[in-house]
Amino acid sequence: MGKPTGFIEYLRELPSDRPPLERIHDWDEIHEHLPEDKLRTQGARCMDCGIPFCHSGTLISGMASGCPINNLIPEWNDLVYRGLWEDALDRLHKTNNFPEFTGRVCPAPCEGSCVLGINNPPVTIKNIECSIVDKGWDEGWIKPILPTRRTGKKVAIIGSGPAGLSAAAQLNQAGHWVTVFERSDRPGGLLMYGIPNMKLEKESVVLRRIKLLEDEGVTFQCNTEVGKDLPTETLLKEYDAIVLCTGATKPRDLPLEGRDLKGIHFAMDFLTANTKAVMNPDDHANFISAKGKDVVIIGGGDTGTDCAGTSIRHNCKSLVQLEILPKPPMTRDANNPWPEWPKVYRVDYGQEEAAATFGDDPRGYLTTATRFEGDENGHVKAVHTVQVDWQKNDKGQFIPAHVPGSEQVLPAQLVLLAMGFLGPEQPLLDAIGVERDARSNVKAEHGNYTTSIPGVFAAGDCRRGQSLVVWAFNEGRGVARECDRYLMGSTDLP
Ligand SMILES: Cc1cc2nc3c(=O)[nH]c(=O)nc-3n(C[C@H](O)[C@H](O)[C@H](O)COP(=O)(O)OP(=O)(O)OC[C@H]3O[C@@H](n4cnc5c(N)ncnc54)[C@H](O)[C@@H]3O)c2cc1C
Ligand code: SF4
Repeated sequence: MGKPTGFIEYLRELPSDRPPLERIHDWDEIHEHLPEDKLRTQGARCMDCGIPFCHSGTLISGMASGCPINNLIPEWNDLVYRGLWEDALDRLHKTNNFPEFTGRVCPAPCEGSCVLGINNPPVTIKNIECSIVDKGWDEGWIKPILPTRRTGKKVAIIGSGPAGLSAAAQLNQAGHWVTVFERSDRPGGLLMYGIPNMKLEKESVVLRRIKLLEDEGVTFQCNTEVGKDLPTETLLKEYDAIVLCTGATKPRDLPLEGRDLKGIHFAMDFLTANTKAVMNPDDHANFISAKGKDVVIIGGGDTGTDCAGTSIRHNCKSLVQLEILPKPPMTRDANNPWPEWPKVYRVDYGQEEAAATFGDDPRGYLTTATRFEGDENGHVKAVHTVQVDWQKNDKGQFIPAHVPGSEQVLPAQLVLLAMGFLGPEQPLLDAIGVERDARSNVKAEHGNYTTSIPGVFAAGDCRRGQSLVVWAFNEGRGVARECDRYLMGSTDLP
């Protein structure tokens, strides 16, 4: 343990983000780093508690409590406090293939279960994680590690999101020849085309790691949609095992009157085309501009936040984000105790930028859309909304009843639907013939990842439904272990 009294002596400190009114003029990352001496002080706040709930990674009430990949948090906090950064990086890489991704985008369930958090602000675990790995890259400590032997077995991974990438990294280290098939023009899945640049840089962060995987022997075949550009039979014949990591990309729609009007788009269409244009200003195919428009985002989650930050960078005229649920409490409710994930009010970067630009948090709670109104050219011009009151029906289910007299009409020339995802796209799964569960996800147990077809495995959002990057890493590493066991009869993968 570092400093036994650190948690008494030092307050929690995070680096401030770049000022909202400055950062909205570019697509660079919003986060900055603390200087090294301050990071060591923050590491010293870790208490070396008897049971470090932060790395326990369990599900409580359906939400992650602690780190889902069991990062060895107290160990690397101590090493940071003692200035042993390279050792800290080594400990971090033992459980996490890509800490620079989680260090930037993870909501940090570890911090929600930090023991210090019972009566004090928790340790800045995520920020320390990001600082360790960024220092590792800056110092040149992260280099390709070639497998010591090759098994001669070939594995095809379909989908290059965080689940596919972590599975590829692990299976390659086990000595198998891994090819990752990706239908997009660039690898990374939602790390590339979901989460925008200001949260996660593409060239300097995502593609840097992909390049390292290539140097280690992983092959990426982009612009290849399996089931369309490449028959599934070919894969089944030519590879010893197949790992499905295709994500849960089917968006939830809002089939209201006026849904067919021009100017109403799924969030992912908006975000994907935007990132392509940011990475290559000549690539304006399918680009959707928010410039000068009144924007209404339907959905108050992470995807909605990314739409808000992107719309503001386009210089939209106004911004409203509709959320059908109530505003969360400022502190934990009695029925949401530590070490559960704290369901509290948070202001994310997009809302912070909206408040700085337009004067207020753009989220309207307990509000839903009732219809879209168009102009004479068939383009959306307004969203009709109403407030809701969550009431129990006679079956005991909560339903959002409309509150009479609370109707409003919001001007809108751009409407973005960010209401979550309904599961994986089905055509590829139909073509391979794997069984699905009741929610249309690929049927495979967490922990063994075997589908109804021997030699075909599934991991990540296509198995568990839309989730988090850190859960995709948990599953990617797990599926690699089980796939290796299938191929070799036993496995040494963690
Ligand atoms: C806008 C947005 C923002 C998010 N922000 C965060 C965040 O800040 N933090 C966080 O933890 N989580 C976030 N998430 C959730 C997180 O990104 C996902 O849970 C995670 O990416 C799932 O990983 P995956 O590898 O299972 O699937 P994905 O990342 O969805 O990757 C699946 C890949 O499979 C490819 N594919 C599909 N079918 C085929 C086929 N037939 N052939 C070839 N390739 C195919 C797709 O093109 C895609 O690249 C966000 C999600 C969205 C939509
Ligand atoms: S991956 Fe997420 S949960 Fe795990 S230590 Fe990092 S920030 Fe915490």
